Amino acid sequence: MKGYQLMIHGGCGDNINPDKFHKTLEDILIYGGNLLSRNLSALDVVEKVSVELENSTLFNAGKGSVLTHDGEIEMDAAIMDGLNLNCGSALCVQGIKNPISLARRIMEKSEHVILSGKGAQEFAKDFGFKIYKKDHFLTKERIMQWENAKKHNKVVLDHSNNTNNEEKFGTIGAIARDNKGNLAATTSTGGIVNKKYNRVGDSPIIGAGVYADNETCAVSTTGYGEQFLKIVAAKHASDIIKYKSLSAQETANETIKYLVTKVKGLGGIIIIDKFGNFGSAFSTKKMIHGYITSNKIKILT
Ligand code: ASP
Repeated sequence: MKGYQLMIHGGCGDNINPDKFHKTLEDILIYGGNLLSRNLSALDVVEKVSVELENSTLFNAGKGSVLTHDGEIEMDAAIMDGLNLNCGSALCVQGIKNPISLARRIMEKSEHVILSGKGAQEFAKDFGFKIYKKDHFLTKERIMQWENAKKHNKVVLDHSNNTNNEEKFGTIGAIARDNKGNLAATTSTGGIVNKKYNRVGDSPIIGAGVYADNETCAVSTTGYGEQFLKIVAAKHASDIIKYKSLSAQETANETIKYLVTKVKGLGGIIIIDKFGNFGSAFSTKKMIHGYITSNKIKILT
């Protein structure tokens, strides 16, 4: 397919009011589409778009992340370049305004793929990242959600309605194919509400919550991380394309079907294949997502 493609998601769950997200998603897609039309690389665009999503309090990433059992904010993010399989992940970081940019710096400036916790923060400081106070990330809604989860002694998805009927807001991801046909992917999250012990989910794990390979596809996931980790979801999707040559949509369907049948998984996936076709599927009631190409923009839930 000619031209560029960009797809983003803002998490999945059962209790989502799509109208609330529509305008923000549309603005961010238009912003990303403009960058791609000016020939920015897929890698640059997925990072820039993710920064916008992290900066919005609507989503469970960066500002507006969910709280841990101890009332802390611990964020995870990963980025992958389909051109060369370079990738970087920041796990369990605190005080970093845009964990996705830290993940990219880890990919480009460290000799490692994953840095976590204190070490990741030291690396961030060495590379000039400002460390923000917790107040920057906290929102009233997240505090209420945390109090509720603790009261019910539950660990829940940010969009879940297991605790109360408040609206919940989600993990983010971006996938793109640029004018040269290069693919890239990101996923960034505050994780799940009331998580303990420096828990890390699928989002920053290459092959589980994110994957990009120019020979197959770009993938980002959202949902209960433990289940996505068990089926190595993102790489599973890439392998379906590689070995079964299914379309992006068939691959998304197959992956979610596998997630449900194998581990009764709850969540969703977005895919752009090497030809520029989109695919998305989810086993929750909704997933906030949308895409833009040179001549079309669409918001889906
Ligand atoms: N996958 C994320 C995690 O388990 C949560 C989400 O996507 O909402 O940390």
